[in-house]
Amino acid sequence: MYNPKSQKAEEFISHEEILQTLAYAQENKENLPLIRDILDKARKGKGLSHREASVLLACENQDVIREIYALAEKIKTDYYGSRIVMFAPLYLSNYCINGCVYCPYHRGNSGVVRKKLTQEEIRRQVIALQDMGHKRLALEAGEDPLHNPIEYILESIQTIYSIQHKNGAIRRVNVNIAATTVENYRKLKEAGIGTYILFQETYHKESYEQLHPTGPKRDYAYHTEAMDRAMEGGIDDVGLGVLFGLERYAYEFAGLLMHAEHLEAAYGVGPHTISVPRIKRAEGIDPESFSNGIDDDTFAKICALIRIAVPYTGMIISTRENKAVRERVLRLGVSQISGGSRTTVGGYDTPLPEEDGSAQFDVSDQRTLDEVVRWLMELGYIPSFCTACYREGRTGDRFMSLCKSGQIQNCCHPNALMTLKEYLEDYASPETKAIGERLIAEQLDEIPSESVRAVAGAHLQKIEKGSRDFRF
Ligand code: SAM
Repeated sequence: MYNPKSQKAEEFISHEEILQTLAYAQENKENLPLIRDILDKARKGKGLSHREASVLLACENQDVIREIYALAEKIKTDYYGSRIVMFAPLYLSNYCINGCVYCPYHRGNSGVVRKKLTQEEIRRQVIALQDMGHKRLALEAGEDPLHNPIEYILESIQTIYSIQHKNGAIRRVNVNIAATTVENYRKLKEAGIGTYILFQETYHKESYEQLHPTGPKRDYAYHTEAMDRAMEGGIDDVGLGVLFGLERYAYEFAGLLMHAEHLEAAYGVGPHTISVPRIKRAEGIDPESFSNGIDDDTFAKICALIRIAVPYTGMIISTRENKAVRERVLRLGVSQISGGSRTTVGGYDTPLPEEDGSAQFDVSDQRTLDEVVRWLMELGYIPSFCTACYREGRTGDRFMSLCKSGQIQNCCHPNALMTLKEYLEDYASPETKAIGERLIAEQLDEIPSESVRAVAGAHLQKIEKGSRDFRF
């Protein structure tokens, strides 16, 4: 039976409820009065239920789709301004005992070169990342209790936070590792992680079991209830995602929103982020062999509807997507992107990283971080290297209430400008720096509070003279 408050996977992601939602969406996809009501509700900026959002997803009326896009753009601007948070993935180890059929790291794949970074190698990776200008990382690792036990992950986090190289520092480490125990989540929290990210891959239990034929990840309930255990372990910023292409997208979309509703209902705090990966080519993996791939228009519509349905949840896009797709979905709701990414283990300090056979997927956007930062500014965005919220204890429901009160504009906007200024001073090319300086000068006036504006202005001057790490 469907129960969003239940902590049982099969109750908060009820298969019957998803099937009924899909049937309801099909029945009503041309019901314009209902669709108008849903759009009116969405316009209030408080989100939509999985049923309402699913009706909009099913609707093929071009006028309605145009309205969806316009509304997503409006909500994106109202809630996130023009800030885009920057991050990079860091692959620690591709040893894995799971059998995920879509992932090149799966145990049976002898074509993949197995690697695990030593702490010294992690130091070199982090210095390379700091020299690019990164401040926020997403740690990635396969599941392997012998090669990658929790102690290895914890030690790696400690190493990463300890490295101060020139003016660089990694100030937020998000972690994307396999579902684990409450005790391990508690350890990750104590190690100072930002968001715990885990993709559901698919919400469809039967498909899930076929796609994960062997290994601990095969347990659908254990995987789906991971965020509940993370919450119990004290991690209140969690990141959801599905791997689009594995199952029918409408099923996944409803499941994803039901998962978000569950977190809100059970813990009073929705997901901090949602990621929207699509299957990519990789060693031994052909995306064409998965029959549920989605085209760019459907992908854009999904991103827009996630933005409308959960306005307070950040949305992440990786370099799995190319420049054109990234540009499109940035407008429609994406608030965090990676730049200069390497998906190989140890790829940040080796010359031909994608060719060593350890990559997780082919990178579509191969530009440097400097090129991505410049491109964003040319499009009118403010690339932000801010990591202030969790360092100021603004996580979980405290972060959400700040978002909901609108006060976030007086924190995020100046923090974005100050961290961009640090980037320009320490890492940018002359051309990027010139564009950035102009942007900061213009954007300073947009800080709503007069006193915050004055303090931010003073901090920007101090950054120019060599001080670092100011935050609201
Ligand atoms: N091993 C961890 C786990 O089991 O959740 C997470 C780390 S894995 C490196 C990160 C994510 O990459 C996976 O959750 C999956 O969604 C995604 N991924 C795997 N294979 C992929 C592929 N061929 N193309 C795109 N993304 C893929």
